[in-house]
Amino acid sequence: MPLEPKLEPGQTQRDRATCCGLRAAMNCATFTRLKENPSETERQKEIRAAEELLFAGPQKLGVAKGLFLGRFVADWVMPYPTVRPVEQAELNASLEELRTFLDEHLDPAAIDRQADIPREVIDGLARLGVFGMTAPTDFGGRGFSQMAYCRVMEEIGSRCASTAIFVNVQHSVGMRALLLFGTPEQQRRWLPPLVRGEKLAAFALTETEAGSDAANVQTVARPNADGSHFLLSGEKRYITNGAIAQVLTVMARTPLPGKNETAVTAFLVTPDMPGFVVLEPRMEKLGIRGTATARLAFRDMPVPRENMLGAPGKGLKVALTVLDFGRVTFGASCTGAAKTCLRLAVQHANARRQFGRTLGEFELIKKKIARMAAGAYAMEAMTNVTASLIDRGLEDYMLETAMLKVFTTEALWMLVSEAFQVHGGAAYFTDRPLERMLRDARINQIGEGANEVLTSFIALVGMRAPGEQFREILEALQNPWGEWRKVWLLGLDQVGAAVRAPDVPVRSARMQPHAKRLGELIRRFNVEVDRALIHHREAILDRQLVQERIARAAMELYACACALSRWDAELQAGGARPAIDPDSPSHSAAELFLRGSFRRARRSLAEMHENDDAAVNATADWVLRHGGEFE
Ligand SMILES: Cc1cc2nc3c(=O)[nH]c(=O)nc-3n(C[C@H](O)[C@H](O)[C@H](O)COP(=O)(O)OP(=O)(O)OC[C@H]3O[C@@H](n4cnc5c(N)ncnc54)[C@H](O)[C@@H]3O)c2cc1C
Repeated sequence: MPLEPKLEPGQTQRDRATCCGLRAAMNCATFTRLKENPSETERQKEIRAAEELLFAGPQKLGVAKGLFLGRFVADWVMPYPTVRPVEQAELNASLEELRTFLDEHLDPAAIDRQADIPREVIDGLARLGVFGMTAPTDFGGRGFSQMAYCRVMEEIGSRCASTAIFVNVQHSVGMRALLLFGTPEQQRRWLPPLVRGEKLAAFALTETEAGSDAANVQTVARPNADGSHFLLSGEKRYITNGAIAQVLTVMARTPLPGKNETAVTAFLVTPDMPGFVVLEPRMEKLGIRGTATARLAFRDMPVPRENMLGAPGKGLKVALTVLDFGRVTFGASCTGAAKTCLRLAVQHANARRQFGRTLGEFELIKKKIARMAAGAYAMEAMTNVTASLIDRGLEDYMLETAMLKVFTTEALWMLVSEAFQVHGGAAYFTDRPLERMLRDARINQIGEGANEVLTSFIALVGMRAPGEQFREILEALQNPWGEWRKVWLLGLDQVGAAVRAPDVPVRSARMQPHAKRLGELIRRFNVEVDRALIHHREAILDRQLVQERIARAAMELYACACALSRWDAELQAGGARPAIDPDSPSHSAAELFLRGSFRRARRSLAEMHENDDAAVNATADWVLRHGGEFE
């Protein structure tokens, strides 16, 4: 089959090859717009912007991107990362303090009922340093690593989802945006009060026309005559803390200096600015009811130029980068909630008797408990490894954080639903926590990037590197005599990846069969990715069902690598301390997870060849056309 793709007029090979990642970077919808309005200037402009957003420069190969190339970049996953010993003691003390505070002051049921997080809880968390956990000590922060911070978020998430989301907004998207993109002057001015909790933060991106399609921001910021201010006009919706925050990072569209173009720019906004209007301070909602979700408007609101956060036109980079951090803590708080679900299910299964036996004696309940334990084990491993990537300086971890977000939010949904089922009718009533946890968990699959959008993103960004390899082969083939050596080497590399399973270097003998299985699956995955690229070519951009299988297989492989690494480390520790039983429950949960995960990955790959895609599309098209009626 010829590999040569058709180019649009004026489109270069390079543009085409980058389409995959680019489209995902723009949350797919920008590309849809490009297709509707295929102005070439527009296309080139969007491609340049997205390229810059995603691929700032040469970067080390991360673990997820490695999988798409048929490689296992072991260094990022193995040995299983641990918090540095010097930090561990401080973390233990912080966790101890935090647990005592939460035991005494945090009442998640009351927070849900009253739809508010009491000020004393916010002040207490601030006193414990939670809002500045990873901020440098110069700004009053604790200077913790991302891994240590995740332990803190796991603890909060295990108790109250509203509080976890509140902290995530304050710390990950509020403070982090300033730390990464603020000028020294902005950091000095804004960071200390945020870290101390004297000021609350909000992050305002979403609008009616800019939900999943984040690039489609319509709020505008026009410079005034002398250029000292911007006048912001527009509306934002669904903004956590929007009406109670004193510092808001707002995304607005600005003209680009010297060009007839606009782009999204980030601004630091305070509610005392004239023209700042709260349309609705607390939108009534299903879950995480303790958080205050607002609708806001800006009516020709003057914002000083010095409040611009990051460079003009680089607002989406600010947004994507801070959301990346946010997704790691999502993983941690989902893991905490998952452990609570497991504990509640086990307590009930051991206590409740029906048919003369405890529920836990029935195999169908055992299956739920085992599945929950396996899921919680992998969620924790994946969160820990992903957080360590940030601590260890991997520059581009977008794929891993996207995988973590999709995997842990779906796993938590499964866990909360299974715990609910184990409780039967008892879970339905408000005197137990599970109905609240079920309502709270639903937002996770929608917020900070809907899971469907991230699934597409994982597949398309992941396939970018193998897509580039094909491009290089193509380019070299155009001049085969001059480049014969390159063709030979690139060809070998491709074929090599296809026939050799990468080594997965575990230390415990007991792990060898699992490691071998993982290596073999990575090889198969790479073959399927290459086949999909060859078979679908540019149409892969629209084949979301194919993308989904690729993303799901990749997620399972990443989750397996994390769980395997954790289990290997536990076995090693057990070897040094024979008191630890290698057949302990955590080990059988690890084994169960790996078995299921390998099976799910294999199924996704098998469905690349045997699936219902045509029937799915035909049915959906028919139903959509007929307004949902069968008659
Ligand atoms: C409680 C709450 C708090 C929030 N807090 C904030 C906040 O603090 N700041 C902020 O800026 N935003 C916030 N949001 C907004 C949130 O990020 C958006 O709701 C989310 O990005 C999805 O956008 P949308 O709701 O407009 O859904 P839409 O974009 O309309 O999407 C609807 C559904 O369509 C599907 N979909 C969309 N695009 C695609 C695609 N390309 N391919 C396949 N399927 C697709 C997805 O399943 C998605 O769930 C919050 C939302 C909620 C509910």
